Amino acid sequence: MKKNFAIIGLGRFGGSICRTLIEAGQEVLVMDKSEERVNEYMNIATHAVMANAQDEATLKSLGIRNFDHVIVAIGEDIQASILVTLMAKELGVPFITAKAQNEYHARVLEKIGADKVVHPERDMGKRIAHHLVSKNILDY
Ligand code: ATP
Repeated sequence: MKKNFAIIGLGRFGGSICRTLIEAGQEVLVMDKSEERVNEYMNIATHAVMANAQDEATLKSLGIRNFDHVIVAIGEDIQASILVTLMAKELGVPFITAKAQNEYHARVLEKIGADKVVHPERDMGKRIAHHLVSKNILDY
């Protein structure tokens, strides 16, 4: 089933999600405050918008609440990540995935209503460790 996604932040994480969703035939709007990043995704995403996502009026005018799933892929600017997640929640987005930079950030994102919080480096580390252990068991 086709869903429409909005990705805020086009670092390696947001960018990789965008490419994968597009390959899977989904509708993807991307937003970044960096013109360079937006230009890079202009011909990849369904729509690419250059804007500061911390501006609530911008989120409203893009009709953010009409997206099935919003991915807040801002990492380093923890304040921006928290504010954008909060605004998306208050504007009625049905499902929000947010990227956390550390454990404290993750706790705040969960508290303000992010439906899924991911911590890519930690999650990938766990996955690889589990894979190594299960591989060892199989090898044995
Ligand atoms: P990654 O680890 O995914 O590669 P990164 O380290 O390149 O990310 P981050 O600080 O996590 O960079 O930011 C990801 C993207 O989010 C950047 O392209 C940045 O321009 C964008 N971004 C940060 N704050 C905002 C904002 N308020 N509005 C829109 N885009 C933003």
